Amino acid sequence: MTHQAKKSMGQNFLKSKEALFKMCEASSLCGKDVVLEIGPGKGALTEKLLEKSKKVFAIEMDRDLVTILEERFKEEIKNKKLKIVEGDCLEFKPDIYLKNISYKIIANIPYNITGSIIRKFLSDVKNKPTLMTLLVQKEVAERIVARDGKESILSLSVKAYATPKYIMKVHKRFFSPEPKVDSAIISINNISNELFKEKSDEELFFRLIKTGFAHKRKVLRKNLEDIQIKEVRLPYINKIDEIFAKLNINPKARAEDIKFEKWIQISHLF
Ligand code: SAM
Repeated sequence: MTHQAKKSMGQNFLKSKEALFKMCEASSLCGKDVVLEIGPGKGALTEKLLEKSKKVFAIEMDRDLVTILEERFKEEIKNKKLKIVEGDCLEFKPDIYLKNISYKIIANIPYNITGSIIRKFLSDVKNKPTLMTLLVQKEVAERIVARDGKESILSLSVKAYATPKYIMKVHKRFFSPEPKVDSAIISINNISNELFKEKSDEELFFRLIKTGFAHKRKVLRKNLEDIQIKEVRLPYINKIDEIFAKLNINPKARAEDIKFEKWIQISHLF
């Protein structure tokens, strides 16, 4: 069956053997692992994952590709080593399919939903993966690890639950059809919810970073004033200055200059 790649579903199929190898290596895959693959496509990565793990769940939204996968992996499906789920990964419920099962996400994901995938599996679901190794747009990978030393809402949102690591660049010529931009592999390790003892701690942290980054041209101190005014916590109006002095933060600092650990300290003092 021939298949015409669908741009709307972010279909760029990976051709690099090295990238496939590195994705498995970065995930320290072994025979005990259960893997969730998002967007298996025609199965290039699925084949490697099946070789190195105990079981693979693969969620694919394109019915035509599901048909191709079912044909290609007939044996593995019959042996229950592979389960193909047709549907949208953003609707997938790990709490049902992978209840009490420890799993890793390894995937070349559709780039238009990168942020939603990361948010869903790091913060929204109860049964989180132990790690995620993802092939994403190179700029996004660089932003997640703050390669230029500048933090962002994205980098801080990942670090709140895990440790991201940049693995390697994958040139756009290694995809078919060739996309406009290069890609990169990142691994997101040590996923946990440990940092936030209470739901309210988690909410405060995210409210803080969203407010801190709200106006690009404003310094952090000015942005943070809004968090207090909007919530009518006026008695605490001097608190920001107090916190900045205590944590030795320059009043002219911008949100992007503040490292993750400092953000956590700020949230503890709020
Ligand atoms: N894994 C394959 C590879 O490496 O060659 C294909 C990767 S391609 C970048 C992304 C895949 O995700 C496509 O197969 C596409 O149909 C699928 N996809 C797109 N949106 C999806 C969604 N919301 N849920 C599940 N799969 C999706």
